[in-house]
Amino acid sequence: MIQLLPIGEDVRLETLDELSAGLAREYRDSCHVRDDRLDVSFAFDSVRKQYHATSILRYLAGISGEARILGVTTVDLCVPIFTFVFGEAQVAGRAAVVSMHRLREEFYGLRANPTLLSERLLKEAVHELGHTFGLRHCQDWQCAMASSHTIDRLDLKGTRLCRTCRGAAGVNGR
Ligand SMILES: [Zn+2]
Ligand SMILES: [Zn+2]
Repeated sequence: MIQLLPIGEDVRLETLDELSAGLAREYRDSCHVRDDRLDVSFAFDSVRKQYHATSILRYLAGISGEARILGVTTVDLCVPIFTFVFGEAQVAGRAAVVSMHRLREEFYGLRANPTLLSERLLKEAVHELGHTFGLRHCQDWQCAMASSHTIDRLDLKGTRLCRTCRGAAGVNGR
């Protein structure tokens, strides 16, 4: 079971519902949106004006239960060695987090594109959840597990796992 946890006030429920449907399809697992909402002011770095992804993961991993938990946020995430991350996950753990901050066309000075935003969010969520299933980065450039630290690379790949990754994650074929 996968649970989606909104982080911050401006993650819309419709966004989460749509994402939840996409993830349930890709992972052939049940996916629910949690009723609670997480305040991550504890992870704020006042110098970088960003939020530490790893602190958020640690919090998510501490939530009791068996389900995988994917935090979804609009705040900008970072880790010490990168200026930003689209998301982060515990490899073979329970927790993952994705940010829409840099998935929005507006971030790059372009006009809003809701369809593109949903697609990018699904890709990034499939990717980070893939890590929780123990998957590492994939050499297949179309696979959602291909590494992508820039928006161009993210746009290049697909929303789905390749056959090899699907097998490794224990997701049944289709
Ligand atoms: Zn990755
Ligand atoms: Zn793959």
